[in-house]
Amino acid sequence: MGISPCKYPGCRDSNGEPYLTSLGMCEPCQRRFTRLLGWLVMDWVNITTEMPTPARRAREILADPTRVYGHPAEWASDTAAEIATVLNGTHDTLADLLGDTPPPHPGIAERLRVRAAWYYLECRIPQLAAADFGGDMAVEMKDLHGKIRSSLGLTRPRKLLPTPCPSCELRTLFRTLDAHCDSIDCGNCGHVIREEHYPFYTRVVLDTLLEQSVAA
Ligand SMILES: [Zn+2]
Ligand SMILES: [Zn+2]
Repeated sequence: MGISPCKYPGCRDSNGEPYLTSLGMCEPCQRRFTRLLGWLVMDWVNITTEMPTPARRAREILADPTRVYGHPAEWASDTAAEIATVLNGTHDTLADLLGDTPPPHPGIAERLRVRAAWYYLECRIPQLAAADFGGDMAVEMKDLHGKIRSSLGLTRPRKLLPTPCPSCELRTLFRTLDAHCDSIDCGNCGHVIREEHYPFYTRVVLDTLLEQSVAA
């Protein structure tokens, strides 16, 4: 691949132009992309664990942007499904490009698709960055996360996570999100999950949710 402008949305050097790179996306933007992916997965976790989910609904309606939501639960289930669709679609497109096993198809439970996408994509950001469609995927994820962040952040900025604090072991870990920050800390002992530990921590949360669904 030759040298081209970084495709990550919003990449700017000191002259206001995207950095030039041979990687599809410059390295700082690849780290941003990893973070974005983790945030989106956490959005899904927050939405699915905190809001009541209405009875099973037809999947076709969720793609309609003109819908007006009468109830938060409806927004929650549609948004969770939208996250799963974006992650699953990205997983599918990249796996196809790289000749890997396709992901669980859309009929499979949402949490399985989300976890599969996280496991697959988190360690393949360089491949995603280099792919033709990488920039479009990043834009789609960024828009979705931005939309969710403003909706969630405005109403309930602190979200209890379903896993124990790695330091004090109480279930008092909160994710705080608003327009400017996204962080995880313990309401009991004050432990802060450092950003470099987010990928590991995201796995723990997803694994915990799957265990809970098996036990239920
Ligand atoms: Zn960049
Ligand atoms: Zn703690």
